[in-house]
Amino acid sequence: MSNTQWIYLSGEFVKKEDAVVSVYDHGFLYGDGVFEGIRVYSGNVFKLDEHIHRLYDSAQSIMLNVPYTKEEMEQIIVETVRRNKLESAYIRVVVSRGAGNLGLDPAFCSQPRVIVIAEELALFPMELYQKGLRVGSVASRRNRPDVLSPQVKSLNYLNNILVKLEANQAGVDEALMLNDQGYVTEGSADNIFIIKNGTIYTPPVYLGALEGITRNAIIDLAREKGYELKESPFTRHDVYVADEVFLTGTAVEVIAVVEVDGRKIQDGKPGKVTNHLLSEFRKLVTQDGVKCYDQEEKQSHV
Ligand code: PMP
Repeated sequence: MSNTQWIYLSGEFVKKEDAVVSVYDHGFLYGDGVFEGIRVYSGNVFKLDEHIHRLYDSAQSIMLNVPYTKEEMEQIIVETVRRNKLESAYIRVVVSRGAGNLGLDPAFCSQPRVIVIAEELALFPMELYQKGLRVGSVASRRNRPDVLSPQVKSLNYLNNILVKLEANQAGVDEALMLNDQGYVTEGSADNIFIIKNGTIYTPPVYLGALEGITRNAIIDLAREKGYELKESPFTRHDVYVADEVFLTGTAVEVIAVVEVDGRKIQDGKPGKVTNHLLSEFRKLVTQDGVKCYDQEEKQSHV
């Protein structure tokens, strides 16, 4: 594999060292922009269509004009993986409002910036999946959907960063965010599921959770495997007394939660259903996805 990392930066591929943007970019000054995090498994981009749709929906919501069609964006993403000859990777797509003046008005920003970074993925340690996570609910509440919708995957992630800081302060692995009525919404960068008496529950997204692409894949997978699954509101109490708890996300995939606010979940070990869904999910990611290489290329350089 070559050592040069190529980054797509508004129309060209540049070396990582040269991939710089203006300090007047409103993505930097104001968090004005949108992004996606995507995974590549065995040279295939997982759920690429879903990620592109969510990116364009986020952009539409904040009146940001992505200067490419969805098909062009898909090609740019695949090409970025190819240029870097990656097989297992994490992709970050960013569309920022672009450079403007120091005022916040986007009307003075000339051109949206499009950035695609693909890099080899440092997998989460295996141990984390075997041990499970310790999670704590935090004082900061999830953005109200009528103030700043969690469906907009914007560059403004301060709500999530604040809860992550609280989790760090409390010495737990991940934060549990509640909405302003006290219902459980999600983690700082992952969706939550609980299992009780054989039924799997996840909060409806209107309570204040991002509609995660892994979440949706797990909903489909669980139903396909014959589990009953309901999108239904629940409180911290329901989490404390659940049979199993797990989180989902592009980076973390499916991971067990074994302790919440100091309460051990059952015997404090990852549960059977969680492990089953994780192994089914790992099968799915290798079968599915948009191919970056044809068979010959795969054998020759990947
Ligand atoms: N919630 C938030 C706030 C997130 O940032 C993420 C990561 N994108 C998720 C949930 C999980 O979503 P996905 O499965 O699409 O990665």
